[in-house]
Amino acid sequence: MASLFLIKLPLFWLYIYLWDMLHSKPKEDNYLQKGLRKQLVQILKDKGIKDERVLAAIGAVPRHFFLDPAFERQAYEDRAFPITAGQTISQPYTVAFQTQMLELKKFDKVLEVGTGSGYQACVLAEMGITLFTIERQKALYDYVGQFFFLKKYANIKRFYGDGFEGLPSFAPFDKILITCGAPFIPPKLLEQLKPGGIMVVPVGEDGKQKMLRITKDMEGNVKEEDMGDFSFVPMLQGKNNT
Ligand code: SAH
Repeated sequence: MASLFLIKLPLFWLYIYLWDMLHSKPKEDNYLQKGLRKQLVQILKDKGIKDERVLAAIGAVPRHFFLDPAFERQAYEDRAFPITAGQTISQPYTVAFQTQMLELKKFDKVLEVGTGSGYQACVLAEMGITLFTIERQKALYDYVGQFFFLKKYANIKRFYGDGFEGLPSFAPFDKILITCGAPFIPPKLLEQLKPGGIMVVPVGEDGKQKMLRITKDMEGNVKEEDMGDFSFVPMLQGKNNT
């Protein structure tokens, strides 16, 4: 009985090792996918995205790596898709538009609320900033942690937590990006924004939000600009570990 156990135990670990190898294997980024990505960049240009650095970042990040294999073929359509834990990966236009509004400078310290698939995080990281990103869904946070491609970016720091709280121990931030629909401008995030900083936040409920760009001047005065209507999954209070 004991010897049977001793034989089975190494097999069990070998199985775990192989499973892990298979699932952490980098996916292929072939000519077809690179070509489709170029077309996507052109679509975003046609829709009004002008910042060449944003377009270059979209052109550099293989979006099909972030999608469920069932949607891989449509990865370069300008559409949002479902991901783990009932959440979504944002539409590329929305990712580009929000990123463009941040007016990123190299070495900016940026906070993202709503890591989701990690796609937006990689687009931001491509632009040479340091990113702190928070996700409230534990399942999604853990899932993204196994993701091989993300390990390419040493400048992404991931946190499991509630975005309404921000990250006081790493504040202040040059830029803050919220990628879920907030019911109001989160006051603690506004506090954690540097004077001279920019926060981009979709505000509103029931999947209907106004995209606000908030700028804080050097005296701490805040100005709000309405950048149009968008639709996001809701920003929810607290962490979720179910
Ligand atoms: N940036 C993501 C978009 C994901 S959708 C991407 O590129 O894929 C928005 C995400 O915000 C969801 O994963 C959701 O779980 C998360 N979220 C909602 N409320 C939150 C909160 N209070 N704190 C942190 N994340 C939150």
